[in-house]
Amino acid sequence: MGENETAATDAGRDFVRDIVQADLTAGRVQTVVTRFPPEPNGYLHIGHAKSICLNFGIAQEFGGRCHLRFDDTNPVKEEQEYIDSIQRDVRWLGFDWGQNLYYASDYFEQLYAWAEHLIRNGKAYVDDTPAEAMRSARGTLTEPGQNSPDRYRSIEENLDLFQRMRAGEFPNGARVLRAKIDMASGNMNLRDPVLYRILHVPHPRTGDTWCIYPTYDFAHGQSDAIEGITHSICTLEFEDHRPLYEWLIENLPVPAHPRQYEFARLNIGYTVLSKRILTTLVRDGHVTGWDDPRMPTLAGLQRRGVPAAAVREFVRRVGVARANSVVDVAQLEATIRETLNPIAERRMAVLRPLKVVIENYPAGQTETLMAANHPDAPERGQRPLTFGREIFVEQEDFIEDPPKKFFRLSPGREVRLRYAYLVTCREVVKDADGTVVELRCVYDPASRGGNAPDGRKVQGTLHWVAAADAVAAEVRLYNHLFARPDPGADGNVMTDLNPNSLEVLRDCLIEPSLAGTDLPHTVQFERQGYFCRDRDSTVGRPIFNRTIGLRDTWAKAGGTPARR
Ligand code: ATP
Ligand code: MG
Repeated sequence: MGENETAATDAGRDFVRDIVQADLTAGRVQTVVTRFPPEPNGYLHIGHAKSICLNFGIAQEFGGRCHLRFDDTNPVKEEQEYIDSIQRDVRWLGFDWGQNLYYASDYFEQLYAWAEHLIRNGKAYVDDTPAEAMRSARGTLTEPGQNSPDRYRSIEENLDLFQRMRAGEFPNGARVLRAKIDMASGNMNLRDPVLYRILHVPHPRTGDTWCIYPTYDFAHGQSDAIEGITHSICTLEFEDHRPLYEWLIENLPVPAHPRQYEFARLNIGYTVLSKRILTTLVRDGHVTGWDDPRMPTLAGLQRRGVPAAAVREFVRRVGVARANSVVDVAQLEATIRETLNPIAERRMAVLRPLKVVIENYPAGQTETLMAANHPDAPERGQRPLTFGREIFVEQEDFIEDPPKKFFRLSPGREVRLRYAYLVTCREVVKDADGTVVELRCVYDPASRGGNAPDGRKVQGTLHWVAAADAVAAEVRLYNHLFARPDPGADGNVMTDLNPNSLEVLRDCLIEPSLAGTDLPHTVQFERQGYFCRDRDSTVGRPIFNRTIGLRDTWAKAGGTPARR
């Protein structure tokens, strides 16, 4: 897998990097400190990769550091499995947080003290209004909200109630702590936002210590300040939260004053990048798990055979901007092909085998031919292939009554078997239903290596495997998980699932080197695409995932998955 672990140093210029550069140049910042702050309530997806590459990339390029911080403020949805997978996937992507692994839950005691600080300064109050009533009192974008009757509580009473909230005296939802800002603000986030809620739920890290938990808004900016984050980079949906972020920083005795900057999140056609929906896909069994190769998760991409370098390069090409857009999925696929082409070793595999008997090749005889592992890289070496009287070619490489420009096998037609010989089809054997089950061919013994001895022109070159030593395998072909570019646009995203997103071929034949234990991670099956061995493989039964086809068949087929 070494070839997929190239250094993660893809630089570029964008508005965030310009801001960082300007802050350094002007001396406003000495050491750049960024953070990637996932909530451990699901696996990371390729959208997160954009944020990871940006935050870790900036730290690398400007000689700073990037923290990995779990925003673990909602124990209802958070799990250790997610904490572990997130660390694995950030590392896989090529980034390292060093000693800088943090959890918002590490700061619960400090955050609590700061909440009391707000209360003591008359800037926060305990509100007993039931959730429903509180929602309607918030007003709308065009109407101001209404002050809660509890807004006028004394500081003493607020302190007492908040301390008793912490002590566990009240049930879930009985009361909350709110910031006292402005119920008439044009920004809904400033209408006395909730800072703490009661949740009698154990936390993966703090156990039963707490039964009140800070909200995202109260935890996030203060965590940034504790860690000395200089540039708190997040996605655009947090733009409206920035005034609250700043209000809290200004009204608390925090050790640093980080600034928040927003960029557009990554959206990709035919793809869903919402943890809520991805969670549903896993939970309801629409996919086999978070690392199903059809999933846009980093675990899924990895299992599918996509190198981390391809994900980084894709993110680099997409760039960082403030305008929301949807990236064509073909752009991701092209980047995967371009990344794999120079590094993936070539192998031969026949997905839908058709038997070929070479009549003038002696029965019982075999010979060894050499095949290049990579056509452009002789230093990648060669591997031996067995050739004999019986071989298999791809069913689609034979047509009995071929159209013009079909240069593969048909009766009387001569083709090249890659690295082997020129063969000519003499006879077609069919079963009772008329299905072609075997071809009888003759070979030119003088064409060893695949070259015509007299320089005659042979257009078609086919991949093949030898009956003598081919290994049976299963191959899983994947298509887009969703059948439309904008899943969910008409309402229910689940009805847009592509029923043909997985096609399993159980009777494939692969060359023996593909069944060995020293297989490079992702290989090219000649003329078929890029494939990698799946972890479901057993000793006797290799299973391969198609990472990506060689060409963009999807676009050519007008959006319907090409059956080939
Ligand atoms: P989702 O919307 O999928 O549930 P999230 O934003 O809730 O994702 P977090 O764990 O909070 O998930 O995300 C961690 C970081 O990754 C945040 O800073 C968030 O802005 C960023 N991020 C999430 N999705 C994307 C995306 N599609 N493109 C770029 N950055 C993203
Ligand atoms: Mg989020």
